[in-house]
Amino acid sequence: MDTPITIDLYSDTVTKPTPEMRRYMCEAEVGDEQLGEDPTVHRLQDMVAQLLGKEAALYLPSGTMCNQAAYAVHCQPGDEILMDKTAHPLHFESGGPTPLKGILVRPLEGERGVFSAQQLEEGLRKQDRYNPRSRLISVEQTANLGGGRCWPLETIREVCESAHQHGLATHMDGARLLNAVVATGIPAHEYARAFDSLWIDLSKGLGAPVGGVLAGSHEFINEAWRYKQLFGGAMRQAGIIAAAGVYALEHHVERLAEDHQNAQRLARGLAKLPRLFLNPKEVETNIVLFDVTETGLDAAQFVALVKQEVGIRFSAMGPMLVRAVTHLGITEQDIDETIQAVGRLVRGKILAYTGTTGSHTGAY
Ligand SMILES: *Cc1c(COP(=O)(O)O)cnc(C)c1O
Repeated sequence: MDTPITIDLYSDTVTKPTPEMRRYMCEAEVGDEQLGEDPTVHRLQDMVAQLLGKEAALYLPSGTMCNQAAYAVHCQPGDEILMDKTAHPLHFESGGPTPLKGILVRPLEGERGVFSAQQLEEGLRKQDRYNPRSRLISVEQTANLGGGRCWPLETIREVCESAHQHGLATHMDGARLLNAVVATGIPAHEYARAFDSLWIDLSKGLGAPVGGVLAGSHEFINEAWRYKQLFGGAMRQAGIIAAAGVYALEHHVERLAEDHQNAQRLARGLAKLPRLFLNPKEVETNIVLFDVTETGLDAAQFVALVKQEVGIRFSAMGPMLVRAVTHLGITEQDIDETIQAVGRLVRGKILAYTGTTGSHTGAY
């Protein structure tokens, strides 16, 4: 029988709207969003445009659609987007830019999700009729598979300057930009300045049920509207869900610091357990990655075992890499319980099955 999940560290996407957020959503003023008549959607878009220091913003049903609409505006078929090899659109968006607009993606060999201006320049194509045209860079803040790593502002400035010098546009996948803002104290508009377009996700750590908001110049957003329509992202009385975003921006940004503290606490606890190794060692935001090779299990087996035995859910992010993400549904007590429960499991069941002398495949 499946054990019910009591502590869910799978992702910050598992957050549910709080009772206060739900009440706020109930009372939202609404109108026909496609006709530009939803006041709550307008309010949300204005808030995000201001937060990011851009002329205009556009509410979309998902972060994935924010990326895809932006890529479609910036690129023509046969153009190429450069991004880190771990970036979300390469792995989790069903191949998006290629089926949707015939755009190619060139993965760069960054480090923990962050590439340098030099690596970008090495990845640029010679502009002739043989090569695809290098057209756009896409930067992921924070870098998810980099373990929630924050792109340093200086690196952002360097890569964007280089991209612009070479005639490329710049885009930020800011799904967790506000985690970086809270972790570093650098305002969102500072991170945003060098980018022609960027977006934030409302349905990750911010705790809204749906949506992302894409920002850029008036001209860019007008074009993005075409793709919102094309992709089926134009909605009707969307104020009901947009209200959750307004609420989240007003009440759930500063509290991201708690998620970061909880992630640190979890990392410290896990680091003390036998057979588990943090990778990377430093936790910057709300994501903890650890390697399970020495347990004798692979990541999928480890995740399944922990879920079955103690009702705690992690996710497998690589063959041997397990991810835990903290969010507003996770308390300090949940973290302590997680450390204790995983500790019991590793010391007991796992070591009992796999022996104490080294790593070999166990019975799971
Ligand atoms: C979650 C995520 C997305 C996609 O956002 P959705 O709202 O789930 O569609 C894109 N990029 C990154 C880095 C993400 O973490």
